[in-house]
Amino acid sequence: MATFKEFRNNVKPNWCPGCGDFSIQAAIQRAAANVGLEPDGLAVISGIGCSGRISGYINAYGLHGIHGRALPIAQGVKLANRDLTVIASGGDGDGFAIGMGHTVHAIRRNVNITYIVMDNQIYGLTKGQTSPRSGEGFKTKSTPEGSIESTLAPLEIALSAGATFVAQSFSSDIKQLTSLIEQGIQHEGFSLINVFSPCVTFNKVNTYDWFKDNIINLDTIPDYDPSNRLAAMTKLMETGSMITGLIYQNKERKSYENLIHGFRQEPLSAQQLALTEHEFDNL
Ligand code: SF4
Ligand code: MG
Repeated sequence: MATFKEFRNNVKPNWCPGCGDFSIQAAIQRAAANVGLEPDGLAVISGIGCSGRISGYINAYGLHGIHGRALPIAQGVKLANRDLTVIASGGDGDGFAIGMGHTVHAIRRNVNITYIVMDNQIYGLTKGQTSPRSGEGFKTKSTPEGSIESTLAPLEIALSAGATFVAQSFSSDIKQLTSLIEQGIQHEGFSLINVFSPCVTFNKVNTYDWFKDNIINLDTIPDYDPSNRLAAMTKLMETGSMITGLIYQNKERKSYENLIHGFRQEPLSAQQLALTEHEFDNL
């Protein structure tokens, strides 16, 4: 069985020292080992942004895709090879701005993949512009007088769109994050894990200390029930989405693959793969 070290490669990440993305990479590697995966059983598909580099830093199949398009690629990979565990990853700009249409429809489609968003509440790669996750009043080069748009609440949107697994974590809480990624991988359907990942270079508001002061860990709320969708929505709205932990899970709904009539449960044999489409249809 592979250890987390076997999910490392020799590519040195070029994230800034202190960037939250380092811990997310480590949590993915640990979670993959903890659930018993081998490097050739995992595919990491990423979008564009600092976070998008992650697919090159993990010893697994990987594809560094195009901006906002990690999810269509990841869903295609999973449907083409259901034996792979597929993780899609990218930043808040990638997934919640240009990619938001794909995100909502991937959520409601419920293909069995895990989507990890590295949410630093800014555009880091392009040197610090306001993102949909930036707070109101947030000042950057793109909003020098402070953002006058409301902050996107992607987890509320996910619940409304029919999400079957919604979680949130903080890059500094690697134990919780690793556990949530394991649960996301094991969930039979689309799992969304939003991770607060401080951008130490450009975001001087949402810092490590700011998150520590503002996060409410659901583990400290004894009667919280993650199977209750209404309670999940209420808690998100009450806290301005500053909760971490498993927020919602629906274990009843089947994944997209399992609802396709006639979708083969077993991979195609080498002999079947060698057939032409016509021969195959006439088997
Ligand atoms: Fe991380 Fe920000 Fe540096 Fe990008 S610019 S690597 S998000 S700290
Ligand atoms: Mg970002």
